[in-house]
Amino acid sequence: MSALDQLPSFTPGARTMLGDEVYGSLQQSILDGTFPPDARINAGELARHFAVSPTPVREALARLESDGLVEKLPLRGYRTTDLLDRRRLGELFELRLLLEPGTAASAAERRSASDVADLTKEVKAGRSAVGEDDAYRLLSQHDVRLHDLVFRSAQNETVRQAYARTHCHLHTFRLAYTGAYVTDTVDEHAAVAEAISAGDANAAADAMRTHIEHSRDRLMRVID
Ligand SMILES: [Zn+2]
Repeated sequence: MSALDQLPSFTPGARTMLGDEVYGSLQQSILDGTFPPDARINAGELARHFAVSPTPVREALARLESDGLVEKLPLRGYRTTDLLDRRRLGELFELRLLLEPGTAASAAERRSASDVADLTKEVKAGRSAVGEDDAYRLLSQHDVRLHDLVFRSAQNETVRQAYARTHCHLHTFRLAYTGAYVTDTVDEHAAVAEAISAGDANAAADAMRTHIEHSRDRLMRVID
């Protein structure tokens, strides 16, 4: 059975599938390994599978290329990218350690009342994801939102965008897709959120540094 056969099918005659849905479906299939690393992706076959015109498929592939999940092969369509290796993963975490503790400190100094409310709500969402059937996916989404909230609270859009462009959560999620999720993450997030809410810059930086170092060590164990 080819990877294409395992993609969610689309009912002909129903409304036209949108570019966003094609993108979402393909992204999920790459993250969960339905399309493994170095799989060829043929835009024409995808368009037929989803019963759409080539345009939404081309748009979806361009977005996946900017996510770093596919790359264009000269005159031969696309291939899915390789998983992060140990070195790349180490580099990614080095970057995070440079950016995020300082950002958490700034967030403690600049956060608004609504940032505090959002952080508190997000930690709750993380806690309620634990124990769900798809906890790994839910916790991964919670992780993306929590870190983005810290960047937003720090009110530095340049740093926030630079971080977003690494798509680090997407790539680590793909890497550890079949790995067990850990609930420690939510406790570590809670410590970060509490320090930011309390306006304690040093504690926020420390809690973030600890969280990133622990995340790195957990992922390195998955790779080894
Ligand atoms: Zn996290």
